[in-house]
Amino acid sequence: MNLDLTGISTDSPESETRVKVLIIGSGPAGLAAALYAARAELVPVVLAGLTLGGQVSLTYTVENYPGFPEGVGGSQLVELFQKQAEHFGARVEFDTATEVDLSSRPFRVKTYNTVYLADTLIIATGADPVLLNIPGEKEFIGRGVSYCATCDGWFFKDKDVVVVGGGDSALEEGIFLTRFAKSITIVHRRDAFRAGAILQKRAREHPKIKFQLNAIPTAVVGDNVVESIRLKNVTTGEEHVYPTDGVFIFIGHSPNTQLFKGQVVMNERGYIQTDLRMHTSVPGVFVAGEAGDPDHRQVITSAGMGAAAAMQAIRFLEEHSSAE
Ligand code: NAP
Repeated sequence: MNLDLTGISTDSPESETRVKVLIIGSGPAGLAAALYAARAELVPVVLAGLTLGGQVSLTYTVENYPGFPEGVGGSQLVELFQKQAEHFGARVEFDTATEVDLSSRPFRVKTYNTVYLADTLIIATGADPVLLNIPGEKEFIGRGVSYCATCDGWFFKDKDVVVVGGGDSALEEGIFLTRFAKSITIVHRRDAFRAGAILQKRAREHPKIKFQLNAIPTAVVGDNVVESIRLKNVTTGEEHVYPTDGVFIFIGHSPNTQLFKGQVVMNERGYIQTDLRMHTSVPGVFVAGEAGDPDHRQVITSAGMGAAAAMQAIRFLEEHSSAE
């Protein structure tokens, strides 16, 4: 095989790039996978999309990733992940996968700039919180609007917060926030909850939790930080201003897995089916992070899955190169 100076094969036509490990996604899962594959001298390529880091880069401070006792900025942390992976030879490309064909190996992944032929593929495309899409929401992310109580709850010690949603996430995270906040108001668009009965009971019985039912937020308002939220009563149509220091939005997550639909087995919510070894239904294709895990959504769990996926990819390549 002919390799260029960076270790990438030049045997394929110019428009095609042959790689041993292709990683789609540049959050903690993708970059941890890149570090492990790079240290095995496999010169992994990471398709980072347009911006590095995924959801964690939106988090102001990460205080629950070991090794940073003072906390670390979310975007700073992923830049460190990138630097460490690149130090060992990973290549991070700000390019986006647009089509994949996993029907035979090497897997074919088309991007805006090229076509990759990959001996193994690690899907680390993550998930995005569903947004309310109301005025002020995006503007106040990191300044009062949050999609992660575990990440940001501590910043609302003795403050008043609003939690939007009526599913398990909203009630579970609302109950979690009682550790910090002075009061939690759960805003839900109906008067019946989708959440399980036990969570509902715990929320209703908690002295810090109040409810605004049949209500939807129409705007997040503030100067430099969140000061209030506008709520509309869906029955009467009336709107009022509800003072709050924070708005936690839990109206669902959506895994970024549409690209792989019909090619790997997913559950009904679009999460890629996997096991403890990060296998997917296609040998040689692995998944790491939230694309395959709706439960944990933490930097450390995603990074751990990324490392495991890369170790399995390394093993897969070893087994298949000796067999071929
Ligand atoms: P979910 O079950 O889909 O609930 C989303 C909630 O947000 C619903 O109450 C929904 O209202 C509301 N909502 C959706 N769009 C909205 C909008 N535009 N404006 C206002 N409200 C909106 O999502 P989830 O709570 O994230 O849970 C996802 C899955 O994970 C579920 O299967 C859940 O059971 C599971 N989960 C389980 C646990 C656990 O077992 N401990 C914890 C977390 C999540 P409606 O009810 O009116 O549709």
